[in-house]
Amino acid sequence: PRTHLSDHVLADARLRGQKEAVIDAATGEVLTYQDLVRDADRGAAALAAAGVLPGDVVAVMSHNQPRFAVAVHATLRAGAAVSPLNPALTVGEIVKQLMDSRARVLLVAQPFANKGLEAAQRAGMREVFVIGTYPEHGSWDELVAGVLPAPPPLDADPDHALAALPYSSGTTGASKGVMLTHRNIVANLEQLRLAWQMSEKDVLCAALPFFHIYGLTIILNAGLLAGATIVTLPRFGLRPFLGAVQRYGVTRGHLAPPVVLDLAQAAEIDEYDVSSMRTAVSGAAPLDEELAARAEERIGCVIRQGYGMTEASPGTHCVHDEDFPVTPPGSVGRLLPDTEARLVDPGSGMDVEPGDAGELWVRGPQVMAGYLADSEATAATLTDGWLRTGDIARVDDQGNFFVVDRLKELIKYKGYQVAPAELEAVLLAHPDVADAAVVAVPHPTGGEAPKAFVVTGRAVAPQELLDWVAARVAPYKRIRSVEFIDAIPKSPAGKILRRKLKNS
Ligand code: ATP
Ligand code: MG
Repeated sequence: PRTHLSDHVLADARLRGQKEAVIDAATGEVLTYQDLVRDADRGAAALAAAGVLPGDVVAVMSHNQPRFAVAVHATLRAGAAVSPLNPALTVGEIVKQLMDSRARVLLVAQPFANKGLEAAQRAGMREVFVIGTYPEHGSWDELVAGVLPAPPPLDADPDHALAALPYSSGTTGASKGVMLTHRNIVANLEQLRLAWQMSEKDVLCAALPFFHIYGLTIILNAGLLAGATIVTLPRFGLRPFLGAVQRYGVTRGHLAPPVVLDLAQAAEIDEYDVSSMRTAVSGAAPLDEELAARAEERIGCVIRQGYGMTEASPGTHCVHDEDFPVTPPGSVGRLLPDTEARLVDPGSGMDVEPGDAGELWVRGPQVMAGYLADSEATAATLTDGWLRTGDIARVDDQGNFFVVDRLKELIKYKGYQVAPAELEAVLLAHPDVADAAVVAVPHPTGGEAPKAFVVTGRAVAPQELLDWVAARVAPYKRIRSVEFIDAIPKSPAGKILRRKLKNS
């Protein structure tokens, strides 16, 4: 549908009145649907008074909390696009993103206020408001409380006006500003609604940050659209998560592979009642099926995957409600409605034979308008509406897709291709391996070869791990060296940062 994103998501919010929209599990603060609409309208008026015009960008830097939703919808209702910032970025990185996005206003949550104020000043921005109380500086909350609600939102053209300007995770290089229109995100919300049948009976708890597109669309906005209640944690921890599940009767968990790993291994889980959980969704990085099965057994519900990327608003595939009993383990599910896919041989540019793996290309109404101010990168990624995902996938004859790994991260050993994700799964199945990551390192005769970084619970001889893998994979996939480390570097959305390991 051609609607404005905020109108679309909050269409029924007034009717929901006192129903809890977002609850902060750390403070107990509750934002009802009625509060959300009122504060979003007031916030839009406050932004307009601060000089925000339709077409502008408002940057939001916050941990997950109820007022994140207000900041997003106030921005949208002012006719502006929201550009979420990761609060863990350094001041220099924040300056870069603020300048790149040309944000007019920064809304920064109190714990990050010092950093945000410094970055905004360096970026030459005058308008910064702090979400929460902060001495001697403009408070967003006071501002919102002190204005009259805004007039109805301006009639932006949903096909072209930007609703969000998220940045890609920067897993494979510098992160890129992704231009998503109202239509892109509204389309994706509707595609997911058909696949998931989330309802107002659902209580969601997210292990993922709202500043990443997964959190923003799939958890926050899809949850609000369904009339569900969203429980937020300021930062993820296994105990706070399990505590929130028990206390609020969470029905849907939104996870990423590192959390699934925790659930599969941690003893704490037995201390909590998690029987309210009906389903859990994992996305953002490859999930091994054995690991998923171990975690499923412990939380007592199905973990199903979704797949997507910032450039696709983000969803293109998921395990639909009606198919999850029959979806093969390890699959990211079927295409969302109104989405097409091709699997292309990266060498020849031709479609691969049925059953073979190739680079996944996707097309649909959720595919971005392009990268911000980077026509070269846009041209390299979008061809005739097709988005080249950079991921290698295959599909079975029932339309279930399997993501092998990223094209860029495949290890080329003597002309063979080795997927790090497969070797990581083999390592994780070893009883003493707590976590693992595999990267390509130069090899004298093979070109490149796999090297493992491993976190162990007790001392293990490297040879034992080399033998463990060698016994389970074809010879060309063997790991050639092992290094023990304390923790695998991961992004806030749960992706292994292999670049960091290669440079270590
Ligand atoms: P950058 O593009 O800046 O290097 P990024 O690709 O990690 O970073 P995102 O848009 O956050 O940025 O992530 C999209 C990527 O995440 C996909 O291209 C894919 O590699 C990975 N991904 C998402 N879901 C899954 C999944 N279910 N299984 C495997 N990989 C996934
Ligand atoms: Mg990417």
